[in-house]
Amino acid sequence: MSTIADNIAQVTSRIHAAVLAAHRDAHSVQLLAVSKTKPAEALREACAAGIRNFGENYLQEALSKQLELADLPLIWHFIGPTQSNKTRAIAEHFAWVHSVDRLKIAQRLSEQRPTDLPPLNICIQVNVSGEASKSGCTPADLPALAKAISELPRLTLRGLMAIPEPTEDRAAQDAAFAAVQSLQASLNLPLDTLSMGMSHDLESAIAMGATWVRVGTALFGARDYHQP
Ligand SMILES: *Cc1c(COP(=O)(O)O)cnc(C)c1O
Repeated sequence: MSTIADNIAQVTSRIHAAVLAAHRDAHSVQLLAVSKTKPAEALREACAAGIRNFGENYLQEALSKQLELADLPLIWHFIGPTQSNKTRAIAEHFAWVHSVDRLKIAQRLSEQRPTDLPPLNICIQVNVSGEASKSGCTPADLPALAKAISELPRLTLRGLMAIPEPTEDRAAQDAAFAAVQSLQASLNLPLDTLSMGMSHDLESAIAMGATWVRVGTALFGARDYHQP
């Protein structure tokens, strides 16, 4: 059985190889460790191996891990579906939200972001797979949404996030991630972030400009959603 530290080394070398192949700067891609369903001890182990940024999908689970790991210098990213009744806790307890897909949620996050914290970093989740995915704004709605979010005072719009339809076909992966990159370029806003690529498709995402890859399974093993 491989340890989390071994997995981190493997994923880091995959990222490094993809960055080199794309002729990109070595520091232009960051690893976001997606730790949903994993116990706090697994995050502690990853932190000991150098990971600082963690992505969580479920608010209550994330908050309880944050309490358990309060002694560690971790940076928390919310990457799950956002609902109005969760925005206050998200605004108070995270540095980033990757999954904003409507203005109402962004407005609440801005209003509820504590003034003693820096602005909340935001990525707009965009749906580039059409019917195949229900979350994310449509490419057609993106320009107006991005402009409106970029004007909210307590948020910093950093870029886009996408979860294309899973496929092992590299050409299809490349096409989906290229579409995200070109949507971002078309916005004409000062954006520096593309959150895209997971365990199975991070090479393609990096080739197409990803700056955060969000990796769960390849770091922590398969998830068991049926644990007590
Ligand atoms: C679970 C999840 C990931 C990680 O997926 P893996 O295939 O386990 O690497 C990345 N992004 C989001 C939004 C997720 O929900």
